Amino acid sequence: MEKRFFVIAGPSGVGKNTIADLLVKHKYGVYSVSMTTREKRKDEVEGKDYFFVSLEEFKKNIVLGNFLEYTNYNDNYYGTLKNFVLNNISNGYNVIAVLESQGALNIKKNFPSTITIFIIPPSFKELERRLRGRNTDSEEIIRKRLDSAKEEIRNKDKYDYVIVNASLDKTLNEIEDIIDKSNENM
Ligand code: 5GP
Repeated sequence: MEKRFFVIAGPSGVGKNTIADLLVKHKYGVYSVSMTTREKRKDEVEGKDYFFVSLEEFKKNIVLGNFLEYTNYNDNYYGTLKNFVLNNISNGYNVIAVLESQGALNIKKNFPSTITIFIIPPSFKELERRLRGRNTDSEEIIRKRLDSAKEEIRNKDKYDYVIVNASLDKTLNEIEDIIDKSNENM
């Protein structure tokens, strides 16, 4: 039976990747493997985290129409691969992507049956606490992330669903219900 494409977005530090990892672990879908021009990080695996390509190769894929959407984020290109998503959903797997917000809001133009889910923190203070708790970023980067978070949260009504991530278990239950309901309504 054909399944669906689910896109999760939300401010940096809100827990999107943890949520997507758990949805995949609970067998609610497979993770969408995007193509990117970003350098591979040490712990990343080609074909599992991303397909890592040169700028030239990425541009070829744009011309060939291979992306459902693509974006330039922090000077690197990222794109959702059309065949990857379509093949999986026609083979009976939901596909779950975590995208930055521009891509998440663009995706419906090319693929209207996508379900978009925006995750917000319980409060702005809590988001700030989580970003600082990571202990990975400079003050300048934390400030930038908090500014973009404000802007992203302003656009939250453009998504199909908005979920407040106060407790991970509750958030997961809510998203798993959305996935079940969307699969029934096809
Ligand atoms: P990172 O470089 O940390 O892996 O990802 C940077 C940002 O790009 C994250 O917000 C991630 O969710 C987003 N991203 C990853 N793949 C894609 C994609 O195919 N399209 C879009 N629009 N964003 C993506």
